[in-house]
Amino acid sequence: MPDMGQESLADFRAEIADWIDRTAPASLRDRAFSEDDICWGGKRWVFTSDDQKVWLEACAERGLTAPTWPEAYGGAGFSRAQDKIFKEEMDRLRVKKPLDSFGLWMLGPALLAFGTEEQKRHFLPQITRGEVRWCQGYSEPGAGSDLASVQTRAEDMGDHWLVNGSKIWTSYADKADWIFALVRTDRDAPKHRGISFMLIDMESEGVTTKPIRLISGKSPFCETFFDNVRVPKSYGEGLSAIVGEQNRGWDVAKHLLTHEREMIGGGGSGLTGGRSVASVLADEGQDDPVIMGRAMKLGVDELAMNLTLDRYKDMAKQGGVGNASAMLKYYGTELNKARFELLMSAGGSDALAWEGPYGTLAPEWLRTKANSIEGGTSEVMLDILAKRVLELPGD
Ligand SMILES: Cc1cc2nc3c(=O)[nH]c(=O)nc-3n(C[C@H](O)[C@H](O)[C@H](O)COP(=O)(O)OP(=O)(O)OC[C@H]3O[C@@H](n4cnc5c(N)ncnc54)[C@H](O)[C@@H]3O)c2cc1C
Repeated sequence: MPDMGQESLADFRAEIADWIDRTAPASLRDRAFSEDDICWGGKRWVFTSDDQKVWLEACAERGLTAPTWPEAYGGAGFSRAQDKIFKEEMDRLRVKKPLDSFGLWMLGPALLAFGTEEQKRHFLPQITRGEVRWCQGYSEPGAGSDLASVQTRAEDMGDHWLVNGSKIWTSYADKADWIFALVRTDRDAPKHRGISFMLIDMESEGVTTKPIRLISGKSPFCETFFDNVRVPKSYGEGLSAIVGEQNRGWDVAKHLLTHEREMIGGGGSGLTGGRSVASVLADEGQDDPVIMGRAMKLGVDELAMNLTLDRYKDMAKQGGVGNASAMLKYYGTELNKARFELLMSAGGSDALAWEGPYGTLAPEWLRTKANSIEGGTSEVMLDILAKRVLELPGD
């Protein structure tokens, strides 16, 4: 869809707002955010309500689960400006997102950049319709921050790859249908040059998962084991199991990380339904001048972050962001931690209740602590900024 003038954008806003207002089920509106409300999709997904299913199907039909992806791959083909308006109207009408998934946030952008036409046409619509749920097989016990040290190996057996090794911290691996994994396909090459980016069906014989139980009682991530897993070299005509070039998976991995970091860094306001901490507190009747003073100060940072995010997306559209996603990841996640610290301070000791007058604030506050670890730690982001953006001398 071509970029539109201001007048057409105003029409677009009116039309999309009207559609959302008419279509979004009432039960998915005006509710506080909870991780439990997320629709992840996938073959084993159990919808939390009929409304959740109806809303996903209605949005998928119009390409609105992936608004900026081309229509041919299940998206809506929106321009940056249209996408921004769509998100603003969703926030304004306080409607839940129809679908959140690693396919949308991570694999999709990687396939759009590196996939073959067949890979895009096959895998992307399954993602936008919420039919297939993906997980991310990057980290290993000896490869976290130093990701290029992955040891899971894929041996060339002619018509298939034989995969052996293990991954760790694989979010929702036990619920996912497929995994995109970094595997070593050349053990003699320098470490960044022997990795391939591979798509593996989680139902393949030899793939097992072991949930890691947290103090919260939840198990959001798993260990994932590959024991002599036969991965066909091709899933069909043009459908290689490898995305991009064999042994050049590091390029795909880095591209994907850019999107992951952008998503995690920009995701903070999502946890409070797109609203500033000051407006959340004001709605709750908070009138303590010290708390509200801190909230207003944070509000300036939130505004600056949102404007920076906008500028970043405009730059990304023109292809010039380089390593700037490390800045978003670092600042966005540190800011999000500060926002939840303040919400907790405002709630006082009552807010510490796991489930109480402040809903799920306590577990969400604790969850924000992981924001500055997942997708690359804050220390590593600062390292990237120092070396690659500011070009400061090493050690
Ligand atoms: C909630 C959550 C979900 C996750 N989901 C997934 C997933 O789905 N798939 C997946 O593959 N992984 C996932 N991870 C793993 C995540 O990517 C890693 O935890 C992260 O990259 C850090 O690696 P590590 O845990 O091995 O820590 P390490 O790399 O061992 O780091 C330990 C500490 O050393 C510091 N450090 C390491 N290197 C440097 C350096 N060069 N300079 C300065 N400090 C350094 C780090 O900052 C950190 O404080 C998830 C993690 C979390 C918390």
